[in-house]
Amino acid sequence: TDNVQVKEGKANIHLPEGAVFYNPAQVFNRDLSVACLRLVSKYHHENECKKIKKNDPNATCIPFDQLSAGVRQENGLKIAEALSATGLRSIRYAREIPGIDTIYANDIDAGAVESIKQNIDSNDVKHLVQASHDDAMNLLYSHRKVDRQFHVVDLDPYGTPAQFLDGAVQCIKKNGVLCITATDMASLCGNNPHSCYSKYGSIPLHQPFCHEFALRMILYTLHMQAARYDRIIEPLLCMSIDFYVRLFVRIGYGSAKAQSQLGEIATVYNCVYCSSFFFQPYGQASLDERGNAKFKYAHGPPVGTNCSHCASNLRVGGPIWLGPLFDHSFVNELITSIEQAPEDSYAYRDRMLSMLYVVKEELPDPLYFDNGKLARVMHTHIPQNKLIKSALLNAGYRVSTSHARQDSIKTNAPHHIVWDIMRAF
Ligand code: SAM
Repeated sequence: TDNVQVKEGKANIHLPEGAVFYNPAQVFNRDLSVACLRLVSKYHHENECKKIKKNDPNATCIPFDQLSAGVRQENGLKIAEALSATGLRSIRYAREIPGIDTIYANDIDAGAVESIKQNIDSNDVKHLVQASHDDAMNLLYSHRKVDRQFHVVDLDPYGTPAQFLDGAVQCIKKNGVLCITATDMASLCGNNPHSCYSKYGSIPLHQPFCHEFALRMILYTLHMQAARYDRIIEPLLCMSIDFYVRLFVRIGYGSAKAQSQLGEIATVYNCVYCSSFFFQPYGQASLDERGNAKFKYAHGPPVGTNCSHCASNLRVGGPIWLGPLFDHSFVNELITSIEQAPEDSYAYRDRMLSMLYVVKEELPDPLYFDNGKLARVMHTHIPQNKLIKSALLNAGYRVSTSHARQDSIKTNAPHHIVWDIMRAF
């Protein structure tokens, strides 16, 4: 009688009342994850087919679109959901994504594991989902050996994922995908810089661009963790959504490539008055013709340099990842796959698509301006976004919005051009 039942996607979940966590605000997160992992599964299946055909050119392979979800696929995806609560996410993956071999739905809490077991039974996914009662740390560290590694690791903790990243990067197969949720936006957005620093080794900036900054601090941390084990990070889709961030990152292998990713890391100088931001990359790194990492030291600004626009002091933030937040071919395929899925596949189909259309157009240039803030600093009225954007376009620069903030302006124009344009209004 005290059972609450929830239907989400193709899962029906029993929740012992008050005992385990169900957060309806995360439906969007789970919808997006199902859509992304469907694509990851498709890539995996196509690679497996290539391997089979290489061994035997006459072998046949069923196209991914003809595979059914809910059927176990030998040599399909092995997924670890390290912090699973009710098993809902794992059960959705099992029932909605074709090409799956095994999913571990793990939780440290005995009550949660009871509910995971019950939900596995009632959703008929025993052949795909395995309940596991362990500390996520143990689960991840005990799967470091190549033959035990996962194709996908999903981290969806309360608050910060930081302490799980070291284990996660080690138990992911080459070119596997790490999915990360972080809900500790207060510290990531600069309300507690000291707490953010202790978790991510990076100083946040309490600025209008803080949500993108949060993604870039997490990617910096992930890069550091991965590089220790000669692994590289390749962001597929990293988004700020409501009150949390969600990242899908491919983990590649290779020591020289991992070393050369330091070329994507920078300290950020942020004007205390006008909010302008300046990047100080750690150095320039690349691979030479033999595939070894080459490094050139960066030349820092002289100590005491002030903001070049308003002469105010600069504060130091970061380090952050300057590289891309999206893989555009992944995003394009994701959009097509959601558009072509049956209408009732995702509760948040329209919202996913409208956010992904913004992501698709988003420039790779890090961070963004907020015209309201700039206008206040310059004591001008706030010009409409579209006017600033067309002025930048007319001056020959590229512009876009950031998915992380509606009234943002991303551009490859240097700051002084933005200032000149603002002054003209
Ligand atoms: N992923 C779930 C979903 O989409 O419905 C929600 C997970 S909930 C936010 C976080 C869960 O992590 C809780 O059930 C909690 O018991 C579990 N947890 C916290 N620390 C853990 C640890 N060290 N190892 C495993 N599970 C842990």
